[in-house]
Amino acid sequence: MTIRVYNTLSRSKEDFVPREPGVVAMYVCGPTVYNHIHIGNARTFLTFDVIRRYLTFRGFDVRFVQNITDVDDKIIARAAEEGRPPAELAAEYTLAFRAAMDALGVERPTVQPKATETIPGMIEMTERLIKTGHAYVVDGDVYFSVRSFPGYGKLSGRNIDDLESGARVDVDERKQDPLDFALWKAAKPGEPHWPSPWGEGRPGWHLECSVMSEQELGLPFDIHGGGSDLVFPHHENEIAQSEAATGTQFARYWLHGGMLQINSEKMSKSLGNFTLLKDVLAAYPAPVLRLLMLQTHYRSPLDFSSDRLDDATRSYERLVTPLRNLEWAKRNRAVPTEQPAHADEIAAIEAAPEAARTAFAAAMDDDFNTAGALAALFDLVRALNGFLESHGIGDNARYAGRLDAAADTMRQLLGVLGVRIDTSSYTAEYPPLVLEIARDLAGYDGVDTRAAVEALLAARTVARNERNWAAADAVRDGLASLGLTVEDTAAGSRVVHRPAG
Ligand code: AMP
Ligand code: ZN
Repeated sequence: MTIRVYNTLSRSKEDFVPREPGVVAMYVCGPTVYNHIHIGNARTFLTFDVIRRYLTFRGFDVRFVQNITDVDDKIIARAAEEGRPPAELAAEYTLAFRAAMDALGVERPTVQPKATETIPGMIEMTERLIKTGHAYVVDGDVYFSVRSFPGYGKLSGRNIDDLESGARVDVDERKQDPLDFALWKAAKPGEPHWPSPWGEGRPGWHLECSVMSEQELGLPFDIHGGGSDLVFPHHENEIAQSEAATGTQFARYWLHGGMLQINSEKMSKSLGNFTLLKDVLAAYPAPVLRLLMLQTHYRSPLDFSSDRLDDATRSYERLVTPLRNLEWAKRNRAVPTEQPAHADEIAAIEAAPEAARTAFAAAMDDDFNTAGALAALFDLVRALNGFLESHGIGDNARYAGRLDAAADTMRQLLGVLGVRIDTSSYTAEYPPLVLEIARDLAGYDGVDTRAAVEALLAARTVARNERNWAAADAVRDGLASLGLTVEDTAAGSRVVHRPAG
C-alpha cells in the first residue's frame, strides 16, 4: 500500500513517492526561542514526530531537519525587557525547548541547526538573489522583490494583485513594493550583528529555513512541515527565495498541521490564552497528552480543555489495563478462575493482532489518520479484555503465547505513535517486610515475598467469604503500610505497587 498525503501545494491527497527510494528528506520549521513553548506549538511538533516515526516504521530512512531561530525581533525585545544579552536568553530557551520535547517523547531531529550558526549560507543566498535581480539593497537592508518571482502565491493560493490591494500602505517607504520582505536587516545599536557586504546586520526570519533545508537536504527535498499559520507568508516566502535563487523546485510535499485552540480561538503567545507544555506535563503523563492530540486528525483544529485531558487519561488507562494484567499474570499466580476457552475464542484472539496491524496501517497510510489508528488499537484492547474476562489469566500457561502476541502488537503500534506504556508498577519486587505481615496475618513462614503476597490474598479471600471484614481489612491495611494496593479484578485479586487512593 502506498502512503497518501495531503499536499497543501496541490490541495489534494497524493501518493507519497520520495525522490530517492527508501529515503525521506524532511524539514519542519522549529521554534523561536524566547519563551517556553505552549501546547499549540507542541501539537505541531508532535504531529511531525508521529509522521516521522510512522515513515520509519514503514521502512524509510528518514533524515529530519529542524531549525532553531535563535536571533529574531522577539528574542531581542524580550532580552531587552529582562536586561540581559539576547544570546543568553536564546541559549536558555533552546535548552528548555529540548528538555520539553524530550519530556513529551518527541525524537530529536537528525540535525538541528541554529540560525546564528548558518550566517555565511544566508549571506551567500542573499548575494545570489541580488545578482539575479530578485533582491535589492536599501541602506544596509536587503529586500526580496516579490514581483520578481512569478510563482508567488502558489502555496497559499493567493493572488499577488489581491494581496497588493489588501496590504496596508507600508510605512517603510524604502521598499519598492509593500509585499517585499527582508532578507537581511541592518543592525540597530545594541542588537546582535554580523559583518556582511551590506554592513553589520542580521538575517531575516524566512531566510534561515531556505538555507538550512538546502544545506542539509538538497533540493527538492521531500516533506516540508509546519503549522497552518505558517503557510502565509513564511512558507510562501521560503519558496520564493529558494526557487528564485536556485531555479529548482524547493519542497515536493507541503504538510500543515491544524491549530490547537482554546474556546475556538487559536492558542498563541500574543493572545495570552496559552498553556505551557511544561505545566501540562507537570500534571499529566506525556502519553496522556499525546493520546489527547492524536485522537484528532492532524489537519483539523483541536479544541483543548481540561475535560479532554481527563478523557485522554481514561483512554490511557484503557490501553494500559490489559497490558498490566498480563504483566502481572506473568509474575504472579492469580486466584485460579480459568475456564477453558472455546476454539472460536482462541481463533479470535489469534487473529486480533494481525487485524489490528492491518487497520492501523490502513489508517496511517491515509494521510496519517492517527484517530483511526487508535481505533484499531482499542479494538485490540477489547479483544484482549474480552478474553481475559471470560477466562481469567489463570496460571497463564495455556494462553500465554497468544496473549503475549497481542500485547506485543499493542506495544509496538503504540510505540509508532510514541505512546509509552508504563507497567512497571506491576513488575517491581515486593518489599521484604511483606514477610512479617504474611506471618502475622496469614501464618506464612517462608522467605519468598511472592508466596507471602499470595498467602495474604488467599487469607483475605477466606476472610471475605466468612464476612470477617476486620480480618480482610487488616490484610489490606497491612499491605497499604508498605505502599502496596490490593486490586480486585475479573481475573482475581492482586497486589500492585501504587499508593492507595
Ligand atoms: P513559533 O515559535 O510561533 O514560530 O511556532 C512554532 C511552531 O508552532 C510553528 O510550526 C507554528 O505553526 C506552531 N504553532 C503555533 N501556534 C500553534 C497552535 N495554536 N496550534 C498548533 N501549532 C501552532
Ligand atoms: Zn520555516
